[in-house]
Amino acid sequence: MNRKSLYPGTFDPVTYGHLDIIERASKLYDEVFVCVAHSEEKKPLFSVKERVSMLKKATANVKNVTVEDFKGLVVEYAREKGTRVIIRGLRMISDFEFEFQMALTNRKLAKDIETVFMMTSDSYSYLSSKLIKEAVTLGADVKSFVPSFVADKLKEKLSKK
Ligand code: ADP
Repeated sequence: MNRKSLYPGTFDPVTYGHLDIIERASKLYDEVFVCVAHSEEKKPLFSVKERVSMLKKATANVKNVTVEDFKGLVVEYAREKGTRVIIRGLRMISDFEFEFQMALTNRKLAKDIETVFMMTSDSYSYLSSKLIKEAVTLGADVKSFVPSFVADKLKEKLSKK
């Protein structure tokens, strides 16, 4: 049986927290589709093309991972990819409420699709794309939070703002 899973998110930009989840998922599933949501309502700093390209570069060493963008419902996209597993990461209790709502909504929409939560590794529990962007705006070096090419892109992008 080919066990597939789908890891959706905004990834604006990818952090070591996301990469940790992707690497761990790649050991549990034969194929992991990392799906970048357009998330226009969140007004992302990076375009969907840039987010996909950064993720592709950051996961180039993980063979069974494919990165794509998607629009629309995650459950529909999961069906399209032939997977019944949606992976989400959990950091703090504060993630729980939103993730709980979303998992239950998705289950109502598609009973056959299951959301699987992976707990963050302790060293990444505080990492979020949002805080990293704020830190760069304030002049912080974020190379321990994101791959160095992502840190450079953040600096470049935020210095133009
Ligand atoms: P979204 O906009 O869908 O929440 P994100 O890119 O912020 O997209 O996050 C995608 C998923 O990765 C979410 O399930 C989020 O909880 C999880 N995640 C984000 N940062 C971390 C981290 N540091 N450790 C574990 N999971 C994380």
